[in-house]
Amino acid sequence: MTTMHGSTIDHIGNTPLIRLNHVSDATGCEILGKAEFMNPGGSIKDRAALGIVRDAERRGRLRPGGIIVEGTAGNTGIGLAVVGNALGYDTVIVMPDNQSRDKIDTLKSYGVTLHLVPAVPLRDPNHFTKVSERIAAELDESHEHGALWANQFNNTANRAFHEQTTGVEIWDQTRGEIDGFICSVGTGGTLAGVARALRARNAKVQIGLADPGGSALYHFFAHGELRAEGSSISEGIGNSRITDNLADTPIDRPYRVPDSDAIPMVYDLIRREGLSVGGSSGVNVAGAVRMAKDLGPGHTIVTLLCDSAMRYRARLFNRAFLVDKGLTLPDWLNLDQC
Ligand code: PMP
Repeated sequence: MTTMHGSTIDHIGNTPLIRLNHVSDATGCEILGKAEFMNPGGSIKDRAALGIVRDAERRGRLRPGGIIVEGTAGNTGIGLAVVGNALGYDTVIVMPDNQSRDKIDTLKSYGVTLHLVPAVPLRDPNHFTKVSERIAAELDESHEHGALWANQFNNTANRAFHEQTTGVEIWDQTRGEIDGFICSVGTGGTLAGVARALRARNAKVQIGLADPGGSALYHFFAHGELRAEGSSISEGIGNSRITDNLADTPIDRPYRVPDSDAIPMVYDLIRREGLSVGGSSGVNVAGAVRMAKDLGPGHTIVTLLCDSAMRYRARLFNRAFLVDKGLTLPDWLNLDQC
């Protein structure tokens, strides 16, 4: 039977580009947010997952009945679970134990095999990425159909998929009328892929980095040296190294975006735009506002709305947690009424 309707993975990508009215009107720029939370798995990382899986299938690294293994802050794991479940692969996920409860519960609901490991620095042999690499190697030996280590940080199939999809979609949706693109970096696949697609079409498009506290990337692109400062409650973004995905990305405008800008922006997006988004989207939109102020009125700037606030319920709407981090819950958010 033929059908005109695509299946789950056919609906990854081609997300809407939404005008963010309040920040656009306030800056005199068009600030547009690409609604990545509308992907089937609820985040930008569905794209990286699909790109990595399709590339591995083409190269014969992932065979029918094989297992996908990855270390992730959560969203890539959810993306891989969506793609794996839809295409018939089991998924094994290794995740640091300091991530939000909602992401853990979501992963379990997809039926993945989940290993929670202590959050330790990258140089530690028990860092979640290294544990996932070891598990993948063991399973590749022992499982009859083998296993793939997705390796989202250094597997450039991640960046390539963003170049072919996210970047091209943004160019087409703005009809090439785009002056700047800015977002935060976890693996860097998104920023690097979109930057490549846009720069290939117009070398003048400004590329910005919105970097949260605790990440070393702002200092690297502003001053040439990796150095982390501060901390952030945002998840999935920030890095202490230049990944293979991020390498050679032209960054014109690096911005350090503290939680004191990003988290109030999350509440503004919920309240003023009706867009329920997570902390990284707050970092991105606050970064886009900084870029808009630097470029001046009349410019079009695109950023990403990566996932939903509902993925961080226990943190973003938890007064005690926020107070402990020096942040406040806005007055209109009276949770006693929920
Ligand atoms: N926002 C969220 C919520 C994420 O989970 C991630 C990925 N970890 C990013 C942004 C960053 O995307 P990328 O890995 O492509 O840099």
